[in-house]
Amino acid sequence: MPPEPNVTECKQPPKTVRPLVDTTRCEGKEDCEEVCPYGVFEVRKLDAGERKALSFMNWVKVMAHGGKQAFVIHPENCHSCGLCVRACPEKAIRLVRFEEVTP
Ligand code: SF4
Repeated sequence: MPPEPNVTECKQPPKTVRPLVDTTRCEGKEDCEEVCPYGVFEVRKLDAGERKALSFMNWVKVMAHGGKQAFVIHPENCHSCGLCVRACPEKAIRLVRFEEVTP
């Protein structure tokens, strides 16, 4: 169950920034999914097509961690609280301008 949003920590209106996951660092540990008050992330196993798109080294790393990574499924809900950036043990998440990432 995600924590209740603390609006005092929400620094930007939606669609100002969004998280970007560095897939070469993400180990699918789910901290981002647990701390985000807005359900922006989903941590799940990569499907066959997603695994095939990885570099060999990245594939080895992903498979060593259960084949899971974090996906940004609702970037439009991000309020820029920064909880996910602080929670990620792999330092795999940064916030970028919303329009910087094309779907
Ligand atoms: S900064 Fe991270 S934790 Fe906060 S709303 Fe955006 S995605 Fe969720």
